[in-house]
Amino acid sequence: MNIDLKNLTITKAQDALKKGEFTSVQLTQAYLDQIVLKNKDINAYLEVYDDALKAAAHADELIKAGKAGPLTGIPLAIKDNILVKGKTASASSKILENYHATYNATVISKLGREGMVFLGRTNMDEFAMGGSTENSAFGVTKNPHDTSRVAGGSSGGSAAAVAMDGALCALGSDTGGSIRQPASFCGVVGLKPTYGAVSRYGVMAMGSSLDQIGPFTKTVEDCEILFNAMKGVDVYDSTTITDRTYSPVRIGTKKPVIGVPRDFLKGDGIDSAMLAAFEKSLAALKEKGYEIKDVSLPNISYSLMVYYILMPAEVSSNLARFDGVKYGLHVDGADGIADYFETRGAGFGREVIRRVLLGTYVLSSGYYDAYYNRANAVRAMITEDFNKAFKSVDIIATPTTPSAAFKIGEKTADPVAMYLEDIFTVTANLTGMPALSIPCGKTTIDGKELPLGLQLSGRHGDEQTLFEVGKDFEQK
Ligand code: GLN
Repeated sequence: MNIDLKNLTITKAQDALKKGEFTSVQLTQAYLDQIVLKNKDINAYLEVYDDALKAAAHADELIKAGKAGPLTGIPLAIKDNILVKGKTASASSKILENYHATYNATVISKLGREGMVFLGRTNMDEFAMGGSTENSAFGVTKNPHDTSRVAGGSSGGSAAAVAMDGALCALGSDTGGSIRQPASFCGVVGLKPTYGAVSRYGVMAMGSSLDQIGPFTKTVEDCEILFNAMKGVDVYDSTTITDRTYSPVRIGTKKPVIGVPRDFLKGDGIDSAMLAAFEKSLAALKEKGYEIKDVSLPNISYSLMVYYILMPAEVSSNLARFDGVKYGLHVDGADGIADYFETRGAGFGREVIRRVLLGTYVLSSGYYDAYYNRANAVRAMITEDFNKAFKSVDIIATPTTPSAAFKIGEKTADPVAMYLEDIFTVTANLTGMPALSIPCGKTTIDGKELPLGLQLSGRHGDEQTLFEVGKDFEQK
């Protein structure tokens, strides 16, 4: 059976499944074949589940019985920090190498009920800390567009899985850009939902006030379908919000108004090909009748600094649970305290240790006010800037990343260079607003075409406007 995976979308696949053009078992087998062919090179998957075909057969029964929803029988890849009952969930860390999840994350329960087929778990930066998947304890994920380059991170495996036609869609988590940046590097669509739109129950916590689970897909329409199936209030996550908590107000009478923080785009770190693709994208939107306006976000330049104080603070307390007793690895030391040090020393990689140290430092009694509290205050100012901007525009557009995918090893020796990658993405996590990355062109480097991404951010709870503009933009 020959299925054109390259041009397949969730909507097309669903249609074909219902018409009986192919079955979910055949579709799943087609993806499994691609994984066998490509994963040796790309390392997108850490594990392919042995019961994927069984789940597909069940989905086929639902389809036959006329009980199929929009996602029934659709194959999905899952980031390795999202719990699937009975399966290994390692967060790409040695400390959890042999850990088996004892329950399902809420998103997994929901998507399972929709009849989705779970293909396997994907590679990531250890505990989602990184922007290149080079911090995985299980090897780097390579970019399917150029295997000498990174797929991005931390959800690099999920983005690469979709880009290499090893899954029709995937789940990632985003604390400071980990869905949008790899989506941009791999040429797929990625959404960081509004904080609280999707339950975090069953995703391994990195920065609890920043984390969200979100979809990777090939089109904005598919992204919307997957997001709608994932979102909603969950009794297991008190930060989840209802659809009623927000009511989008439109500035424009016809089309949403798009704001551009011009001052923020003047930094030297931004690649000229990226800027050119961004300007071209704005021109295409203008052509379609969108009003484009400059907006001022005076404190946005502090976002990265604020993020790299608050995130490690939350990391250091969230990761305290890995004590050699409750989960995963245990290494014996001379006494109880020594067990703790030995286990964490052997189980955590360098970046995780760096962030735990940074986090405990900014939370220590002598520095709490100077760093943690001050960063929290600036976070509130940044949120206020956005609230003000959203009084005159409906969407804020920026590039997703400063450049296209970088070379493997290019930034590993310099953590700050790696952190600068997150300049455009961290703000959405700090303010809680939703942000969508859409492919917006390509640049050619060393004879290889590398994708670039456009980021659209919206008001709290207003994914709808992002989808509307995103779909319009895709048809440019
Ligand atoms: N690259 C960012 C970091 O290293 C984002 C990580 C994430 O979103 N999980 O923290």
